[in-house]
Amino acid sequence: MPLYKEQGLVLRSVKLGEADKIVTILTQGSGKVRAVAKGIRKTHSKFGARLEPFTHVTLLMYRGRNLDIVTQAEIITPFQRLRASFDLITAGETMLEAVDKVAEEHERNVRLFMLLLAGLRGLDAGPVDAAAVAESFVLKLLSLSGFHPSLAGCAGCGAPGPHQWFAAGQGGVVCPDCAESDAGRVSAPAVAWLDALQHMDLAGAGDMTPAREVRREARAMLYGFAEYHLDRRMRSFALLARQPDPVLAP
Ligand SMILES: [Zn+2]
Repeated sequence: MPLYKEQGLVLRSVKLGEADKIVTILTQGSGKVRAVAKGIRKTHSKFGARLEPFTHVTLLMYRGRNLDIVTQAEIITPFQRLRASFDLITAGETMLEAVDKVAEEHERNVRLFMLLLAGLRGLDAGPVDAAAVAESFVLKLLSLSGFHPSLAGCAGCGAPGPHQWFAAGQGGVVCPDCAESDAGRVSAPAVAWLDALQHMDLAGAGDMTPAREVRREARAMLYGFAEYHLDRRMRSFALLARQPDPVLAP
């Protein structure tokens, strides 16, 4: 079996038998990899906490037929601050879940890896509004995955906005002529907030927070759009939406 070295971000880990775990890792050069870490649940495991979700690691692995096998793991970044806060973990879990859904196994996607690394760094910096960082991340991930939501021009004909209708199935905001029956009314501030999150640097996305009503409406649009195009329910959205609104310093 060929041995290979990679760096990666741990997306999740599940128990396998008495002592082992299957870890899912987004690697920089080999796409998503599912690998067995043997003996990881034993007290004196050589892996320790190195293969916990969120950890940025270098790995030495054997390529298997179905699952690879981790033989060595070293921590590059533990993202300790992220792990110490419930709000940051919740925001981070949205990132991991979304990435797990779009990443292909053994298919190199460096831009996706860099996006996730930037997202986790953004959270680890302790933003005021962690949910905003996660939501900005989801918008960028959608664009990267070919589902770029149109938030300015009409998704149907390209007519310049602002537009007052939104339809996930049509690809974003739509003009009155293009709006189909499932399009819903949206307010200009909610569209503007999503548009800002889409263009903002991840590092800055958590520095501002919108009015509660604007956020609620923008969330409904974004979550609906993401689930429609990723073709999955996103379990982490429910928790993310329940985060209390941050209190901004005057
Ligand atoms: Zn139109």
